[in-house]
Amino acid sequence: MSAQPFVTRLADGGVFPHMLGKIVCVGRNYAEHARELDNPVPSAPLLFIKPATSAVPMARDITEQFTRGEVHFETELALLIGKRLSEASAEQAERAVAGLGLALDLTLRDVQAQLKEKGHPWEVAKAFDGACPLSPFVALDEVPDWAALRFTLEIDGERRQTGETRDMLFAIPALLAEMSRHFTLQPGDVVLTGTPAGVGPLPRNAQLSLWGSFGLEASTQTR
Ligand code: ZN
Repeated sequence: MSAQPFVTRLADGGVFPHMLGKIVCVGRNYAEHARELDNPVPSAPLLFIKPATSAVPMARDITEQFTRGEVHFETELALLIGKRLSEASAEQAERAVAGLGLALDLTLRDVQAQLKEKGHPWEVAKAFDGACPLSPFVALDEVPDWAALRFTLEIDGERRQTGETRDMLFAIPALLAEMSRHFTLQPGDVVLTGTPAGVGPLPRNAQLSLWGSFGLEASTQTR
């Protein structure tokens, strides 16, 4: 698989005017998920980056990702950045979000486990081509109630993950502000806000349905 340029789409059918630059992610932002993988609950956000080449449209079949052991699904609320953020306050940060979407942070869990054991970076387990299916984004015209957003993933009609932003260890405005202390966020960048409990290996030949309380439905399938 060779990465195609990713086009960020809006849920109303439009195209976002800024190119995707990078996808900034947080690990272990829900305590229950940290526990299910036997990881300590962090005292500061654990940040990592997926490159733009990892992004693919959500609707595309997931087929070429199954070459190196188990591929885990992690369903995450995705934020589309509309304004440049550098060393921002939480108030500046929350006003810079232009849209809400859903993402799958696909993870080569066997590869990641080997890397973690050696104390090495996770990059190849998280940043490969196709590692970040992204839905279209629902445009925001005002700052939402960040603690009141919910999302779910069903696989073949069975509910597998439910996320509620009120359960996040680092709430969205503070999380964005912290990210902007380390990396300048540019218009077109995407932020993944962590996965709730329920992650697991993606089955082959399955139908995935995602739903967000902010007016989003998306689906994809594995082959
Ligand atoms: Zn994740």
